[in-house]
Amino acid sequence: MSHKKVVVDYDVLRRELEEGLEAFVQGFPLENFRQGDYKQYPVITLLACSDSRVPGNMVGSMFNRVFSIENIGNQVKTGEGSILYGLLHLGTPFMIVSGHSDCGAIKAASSDFSGEPDALRKELETVQDSLAQGLKTFAGSLSDDEKIKFTQLAELNVDVQINYLLDNPGVKELVDKKELYILGTMLDLHDVYGGGYARTYISNINGEKNPVAIKGFSELGSLAARANRLT
Ligand SMILES: [Zn+2]
Repeated sequence: MSHKKVVVDYDVLRRELEEGLEAFVQGFPLENFRQGDYKQYPVITLLACSDSRVPGNMVGSMFNRVFSIENIGNQVKTGEGSILYGLLHLGTPFMIVSGHSDCGAIKAASSDFSGEPDALRKELETVQDSLAQGLKTFAGSLSDDEKIKFTQLAELNVDVQINYLLDNPGVKELVDKKELYILGTMLDLHDVYGGGYARTYISNINGEKNPVAIKGFSELGSLAARANRLT
């Protein structure tokens, strides 16, 4: 699980950080914020992998729009309380569970991680359990090509997270009333699906995995046309 260390130029890093903080002040949508009485009104609860190549703003502007939870391998169990807060209390009409290609957590959970610190091992065990569950009901076969195989596993992992969410009676009720759509997405950073780099596909809606059925969610308009799966 070793990873090459980044060479840091602290002057550049400090300047970028200062510029970033200042740009946020300058771009702050104060009038919009006031109209909301200074409260938050997110429309998406986003569960994504912490991977720095999977930024929350892949779904557009984040400010007062995205209630964001990130952890390694995008696991509901690791951030369950925060996710339920977004769904049950903030009432976001969308929940997105985003998996991605070349997920380090999926790879690590498929390897020997016994030497890792307790807290990290615990999170990887959660990922490992999800993969085992996903494979239990997977009728197809995993590719011999590692790049494809780990993306297939990431896809199955997203399915497991959505099933787990649907087991929550409060969440299920919102979905049944069409007040909540749970979208499983795959961010294809590496063009594994063959449609180009950085494309996002919808692999699951409300537990539905069949791309043809997903395309039938006409209320989601052209979004549903992104339906695609490897598994
Ligand atoms: Zn990842």
